[in-house]
Amino acid sequence: MKCFMCNGDFIEKDVNYVVDLEKTIIIIKSVPARVCTQCGEKFFDDVVARSLEKMVNQFKELNTEIVIVNYKEKVA
Ligand SMILES: [Zn+2]
Repeated sequence: MKCFMCNGDFIEKDVNYVVDLEKTIIIIKSVPARVCTQCGEKFFDDVVARSLEKMVNQFKELNTEIVIVNYKEKVA
């Protein structure tokens, strides 16, 4: 698999996923992703993307200013 932006190689790496919803900022740490070694573009697998979406929807309703969680602790 090559990067569609620059055709660079991907490496598997844990990244921090940040969502800024104006009222709430959600930071999900240690999310497994593929990161392009050339341009830094990040891609998530479908399974990971779906879990992220689920988490964001859940945290949105908490009405907290900032939420910081660890992906690996949430997805066992
Ligand atoms: Zn790239």
